Amino acid sequence: MTRWEVLVTDILAGTTVVGRENASAGAGLVAAARRPGGEPVRTETETILPGTRHETPLYVVDAPKAGPTVMVTGGIHGDEPNGIEVAREAASWYPDAGRLVVIPEANRVAIENGRRDGVGGDLNRQFPPDRPPETELARGLWTTIERHAPDVFLDLHRSLGIYGVHPRYVGQAIFHSPSARGEELAAYLNEVAIPWYMPFHRFTAATSMMGGPLLFHAVDREFGADAYLFETTAFLLDQEAKNELTRHAVAKVLSLHGLLEAADGRGGVGR
Ligand SMILES: [Zn+2]
Repeated sequence: MTRWEVLVTDILAGTTVVGRENASAGAGLVAAARRPGGEPVRTETETILPGTRHETPLYVVDAPKAGPTVMVTGGIHGDEPNGIEVAREAASWYPDAGRLVVIPEANRVAIENGRRDGVGGDLNRQFPPDRPPETELARGLWTTIERHAPDVFLDLHRSLGIYGVHPRYVGQAIFHSPSARGEELAAYLNEVAIPWYMPFHRFTAATSMMGGPLLFHAVDREFGADAYLFETTAFLLDQEAKNELTRHAVAKVLSLHGLLEAADGRGGVGR
């Protein structure tokens, strides 16, 4: 078998090699996040919009040491399970410092229907500048976010194509507020999780104009948060590959903003 036949076989096998290719370098941060530290974390659960069709849980994980509040949202679009599944996992991680706030299933109606949109259209277009959020769910989420006042915000998504490769699609990209560390996040993902033979899947970081109606725009405007919108892609990646990239991204954001002490997970750095 030639080298190229090996490559094609790997890709056709489901491309689950993505996200695991450099596991020795990259698994460290995710492993550190999953590993209990010396002092226990304290976890609380809240309910957003209780008694409505939008009712959904929020998890607060308080680390033993003080630090910033990082909020992670999944399921703003109901047909993007990578964000939902990885946000659920992150709710049982062990940050070393600060507070991790997780909303895994932001848009319950959309998730139950397996569709991008829930009630009132695309939830990620309902946070315009200078006007209140546009729907009951958007207002309920916003009230909750205001209460937790995140310093850092990470919204998890999945596109169908690749940013800069497929017109109109935005996959394999980190959109971020000017102050956020999107370039470092993209560089990390490319180093630990994208094999050399999938160059089109390398992540791109793009600074966003924050005047739009997307939730991460609004969180940046309102709280001056370092805000990220993470997009992986369905193009050639199976569900576990998408989840693994999403997992690496969440762990790296926690690390970049001081919630994980392991700097990069290399060389067995841990607690
Ligand atoms: Zn999305």
